[in-house]
Amino acid sequence: MKNITLFWFRRDLRLTDNIALFYALKSKSPVLPVFIFDTEILDLLESSKDGRVEFIHNQLQSLNKQLEKYSSSLLVLHGNPIDQFKLLIEKYKVTSLYFNRDYEPYAKKREHEITELFKKQGLDVHSFKDQVIFEKNDILKKDGKPYTVFTPYKRKWEEAFSTLSIKNYQTEPILKNCLQVEPFSLPDLQKIGFQKTDYNFPPATINDEIIKNYDQNRDYPYLDGTTRLGIHFRFGTISIRRAVKKAHELSQAWLNELIWREFYMMILWHFPKVEDHSFKQKYDMINWRNDEQEFSRWCQGQTGYPIVDAGMRELNETGYMHNRVRMITASFLTKHLLIDWRWGEAYFAQKLLDYELASNNGGWQWAAGSGCDAAPYFRIFNPELQTKRFDPKHAYIKKWVPEYKSNKYPEPIVEHKFARERALEEYKRTLKND
Ligand code: FAD
Repeated sequence: MKNITLFWFRRDLRLTDNIALFYALKSKSPVLPVFIFDTEILDLLESSKDGRVEFIHNQLQSLNKQLEKYSSSLLVLHGNPIDQFKLLIEKYKVTSLYFNRDYEPYAKKREHEITELFKKQGLDVHSFKDQVIFEKNDILKKDGKPYTVFTPYKRKWEEAFSTLSIKNYQTEPILKNCLQVEPFSLPDLQKIGFQKTDYNFPPATINDEIIKNYDQNRDYPYLDGTTRLGIHFRFGTISIRRAVKKAHELSQAWLNELIWREFYMMILWHFPKVEDHSFKQKYDMINWRNDEQEFSRWCQGQTGYPIVDAGMRELNETGYMHNRVRMITASFLTKHLLIDWRWGEAYFAQKLLDYELASNNGGWQWAAGSGCDAAPYFRIFNPELQTKRFDPKHAYIKKWVPEYKSNKYPEPIVEHKFARERALEEYKRTLKND
């Protein structure tokens, strides 16, 4: 039996400019690429129609086609990753494992356990930074502590970036070092318990025009003013190095958003408690109303506030919601309805195709006021004013709420002024000793 190197695909589903894959292919043994549909994650999904699983499955098919050109194949498994790696170690003469790092609490735990498993058997493990430009402790304050405010973090990020020369890890010429095998059969979606959905997945193309005009257009939900690349960053079907280079050339505003993405990942890595606690501890003392009926109306886009309802309906139908409207709907849930940000966060996590723990958590805690560098608690979005500014002709509203202004449209779930006062009172009461 030949020695082999294992490469473990996770949120880096591409062959080009994939750092751990690049180094795996440069190692002495031929590379067997592996993807594991992790049942620990899949079992938690609420619906068998999940666009994210379908997206991954499509991408695995595409990777397999590309690998066939090199007489190689992707081994796709389904189960608990530890068990699956144990089986692989028994079956093959594995010498080492290569993967790109992930920063979410569960992923970190899984990486740690698998690393221990390999090390106990005397096998090498090599992990790499791939999904961000800067990770973990790369960007710290002078006193060695992590930043918790975005603007100084961004400044330091840009300073550090200006000293880097971004390299593209071209894997194409060395792919011939993949293990030559008869093609493995890829389990179909049904076999792993899922079905196809009706979602249209955005293409993995960086549109220069959108980026050039990003600063002027990004806040208007009725325009195609943002890139829709979130799902590709989430699953690594686009290289962040490529995107950042492009941002650097074409748009500071777009670059800022890519830095926000890294900021939230850094926060989650340093403060994993934010996964289920407020960053600012006191905010966990808020007396949320948590009215289940009101929550259900918010989820369904039936609050009687058209900009909120348009956003929720866009999310329910397409798996996407425009950033401006994410802010408005999140503010509405936490402030107008005084419903715990964790409820809204969980709903977005279930529905968003571009769902990403760090950014979703960051976005929700920003809206609730409980996050690092969050909106101050007294900043309560007025849905009507937001509509006037960002959807003045109601183009977005008309698209998603066609019955608006007819008698089929519900009355507002709560009166704005009353809700605002109620929220201010509760926040003030909780934070009075701040
Ligand atoms: P563009 O506007 O073209 O931006 C390019 C990329 O930059 C995005 O794809 C994303 O990776 C990153 N980005 C943009 N804005 C932000 C931001 N504010 N914070 C962090 N990264 C950003 N983003 C997610 O990727 N996943 C989530 O689960 C998520 N949940 C959110 C929840 C709330 C309540 C809020 C207010 C924001 C959330 N965001 C989330 C951030 C932002 O809304 C989305 O990244 C953006 O709308 C995606 O659209 P786009 O791909 O067209 O991005």
